[in-house]
Amino acid sequence: VRPIRKDLRETDMLVPKKNKTLQTLDFDNRFTKELPADPENDNHRREVMGACYSRVHPKKMAEPTLVAYAPEMADALDLTREDCESEAFIETFSGNRLLPDMDPYAMCYGGHQFGHWAGQLGDGRAINLGEIVNQKKERWALQLKGAGPTPYSRTADGLAVLRSSVREFLCSEAMFHLGVPSTRALSLITTGESVMRDMFYDGHPKREPGAVVCRVAPSFTRFGNFQIFSARREIDVLRKLAEHTLRTDFPHLGAPSKKTYIAWFEEVCTRAADMIVHWMRVGFVHGVMNTDNMSILGLTIDYGPYGWLENYDPNWTPNTTDAQGRRYRFGHQPQIAQWNLLQLAYAIYPLIEEKEMMEKTLDDFAKNYENKWQTMMAQKLGLKQSRPEDEDLIAGLLSVLQLTETDMTLFYRNLAHLDVNLESLNTLPDEVLMAPLSEAYYTPERLTDGHKAQIGNWIRQYLFRLKTDGLDNETRRKQMNTVNPRYVLRNYLAQLAIDKAEQGDHSIVKELLELLRHPYELQPGKEAYAQKRPDWARTKAGCSMLSCSS
Ligand code: AMP
Ligand code: MG
Repeated sequence: VRPIRKDLRETDMLVPKKNKTLQTLDFDNRFTKELPADPENDNHRREVMGACYSRVHPKKMAEPTLVAYAPEMADALDLTREDCESEAFIETFSGNRLLPDMDPYAMCYGGHQFGHWAGQLGDGRAINLGEIVNQKKERWALQLKGAGPTPYSRTADGLAVLRSSVREFLCSEAMFHLGVPSTRALSLITTGESVMRDMFYDGHPKREPGAVVCRVAPSFTRFGNFQIFSARREIDVLRKLAEHTLRTDFPHLGAPSKKTYIAWFEEVCTRAADMIVHWMRVGFVHGVMNTDNMSILGLTIDYGPYGWLENYDPNWTPNTTDAQGRRYRFGHQPQIAQWNLLQLAYAIYPLIEEKEMMEKTLDDFAKNYENKWQTMMAQKLGLKQSRPEDEDLIAGLLSVLQLTETDMTLFYRNLAHLDVNLESLNTLPDEVLMAPLSEAYYTPERLTDGHKAQIGNWIRQYLFRLKTDGLDNETRRKQMNTVNPRYVLRNYLAQLAIDKAEQGDHSIVKELLELLRHPYELQPGKEAYAQKRPDWARTKAGCSMLSCSS
């Protein structure tokens, strides 16, 4: 067992920072080097036994065109602007041309979909190009989504349409800039191919432009990667994958052993809790929290029918496939994460065999989540720290947010405008107190006197609480503005970018990418992007309803 990360970290400072080119990226490809491969090397669909991956070839695309690339991601890969604007970049990240050290493969994994074991799933339309180690000695796996069929494509085509690729590309980077753990995106390229999709599975298939996103993450390993081997009782492969994951993604935990596996499971639980707390902070709903869509690193992964809360509604799910059971609704995400962790626990149990220890870790998940959530809520409210007695204030807040359609992002952002120096709170009219929040209401005319009284009372309680902290307005506002974003990828904004991109105009994609690089800053001239959802978007496909068809 080579503790590669540690070795590399020691040499870290010795390496001068100089930009590499595409041609000199350092691929080390540990996933394919260290793990058992499917002996068959072609893309036909099949059950793959006893292997972590299958070597595959990306499909040749007719006419790849660069829509956009993410500068921060390019920089993390040591790529220059010239690289990203070169012909070779487009050819490489559309899958048309492989760099000499790339070793493309699709991963084998399984998963529970909507609560039911689905057997082998795998990278049906994602093709990993290999893993590079950058000059800071960070490991990044590069993956093309929509690059053609693999052994895991089942009945589907292995392709992705432009609309879902725009959504994945923009949201990955938006999440990163918001500080939410996420897989990243390097590039968005249209392929020149058309792809058949029945967007709402209602018998109206239509041709849509195809696209490929190059996703990037330290690794793309999912809960389902472990589940498949334990479901098949391929415990030796399970062990190899777990050892690889520990050495590669969790090197700080030390050499694989029963003890390390327990520490690993604890860390996976902690990371999952952190990720969900962030989702709850910014109003993100994943939409398909199947166990194959849960990253072992606690990264948001697989942007499909996700959505952003506009009006605060814990019961909202953006996914039409989930409309009946609402399993993946906003408010249920922590419970689902715990259920998914339980499935992971079953999968890795053969490595640990400590039932009570694992049960305790799962129980701790709930407690840790709750604590982290309370701390996060205190930050959103600009409180110095969370106190047990704030529970009532927070419960009051969540109830106020649901009185009538209230924009979550605007409400929290504008909460910072409240003035802690206001005197005679008890005699100030509700409407005066509420004024800074007025922008957040979708239908202000529906606010009854009763609602206003409830909101006013909550604001009084909140201001009294703020006074006990003794922070001045400016300090508190600054802090709140680092956790309450002004700009998020509102569902209708992504749709505006898609509508234009489908006509060959990439300007809004680029503008949103730029906007979302600074989600917490006031950006003069960009006020329109901070506004609440316009009425036309209330029931429009893509804005309020999304399907898995992508
Ligand atoms: P998802 O719910 O989108 O994360 O996908 C579930 C499974 O379906 C994964 O194994 C995907 O790789 C696979 N899949 C989704 N879309 C396609 C497609 N267009 N072609 C092949 N496989 C797909
Ligand atoms: Mg998936």
